[in-house]
Amino acid sequence: MNDIAKPDIKALIKLQEAETQIVRLKEVLEKIKTQKDKLSSKLKRFGNTLEKQKDDLAAASKNCRDSEREIQVVDERIIKSNETLRMVKTNKEYQVLLREVDDNRKRKDAFETELLEYFDEEEKIEESVQESQKEFDLLKDQIDAEQKDIEKESIDDREMLEDYLTQQKEIGKSLDSSLMERFAKISKMNQGLAVINVDNAICRGCFMNIPPQLYIEVQRGNSLILCPQCSRILYYIEKEEV
Ligand SMILES: [Zn+2]
Repeated sequence: MNDIAKPDIKALIKLQEAETQIVRLKEVLEKIKTQKDKLSSKLKRFGNTLEKQKDDLAAASKNCRDSEREIQVVDERIIKSNETLRMVKTNKEYQVLLREVDDNRKRKDAFETELLEYFDEEEKIEESVQESQKEFDLLKDQIDAEQKDIEKESIDDREMLEDYLTQQKEIGKSLDSSLMERFAKISKMNQGLAVINVDNAICRGCFMNIPPQLYIEVQRGNSLILCPQCSRILYYIEKEEV
């Protein structure tokens, strides 16, 4: 049927083990990456909120400075009008200037009331910025530590993955290319599980009973036997006597 050397079956078993482990470890590492990404975006979202608060604070501070400047301008006008008042000759001029001073005082009052409101607002925003900054720093420390832990835990998995990938490559090189092609095809048909053991005449892949004659051939291990149902490559491990 399909003559194959015994060492080749052993190599196929090892190759299967390596491939199963590669799939498993890649999944584990992918999950770890997702976990780390989730933590990073949590911190990023918080950081964005903090940045927005800081922009609001800058806007509030600008309102205060603008208002202070306007008060200063009005103040200067009042001083100037008062100086002119002392030098006017006519009553009419005097009345006009007096009204001007009065108007400017009213404007100054309005600006000062506004400034107080701006100060209040600035203070409130500043408090929440400080609070958020503290929370952000705490969260950052916490997330950095969590990510370091996750990274540390995954070191072994990464090393194992490297080992299995090397094994996969080495075994691939040692096997005949047509055998490798068959292996790949069977693997693809069976969700990555191409080589499976037979236990008590049952295929452990699809749990079908293997016909006695075929079972004997699998036990001999001199040829490539495929499961009649799932087409996986079958092998047999002799049980050690207890
Ligand atoms: Zn089967």
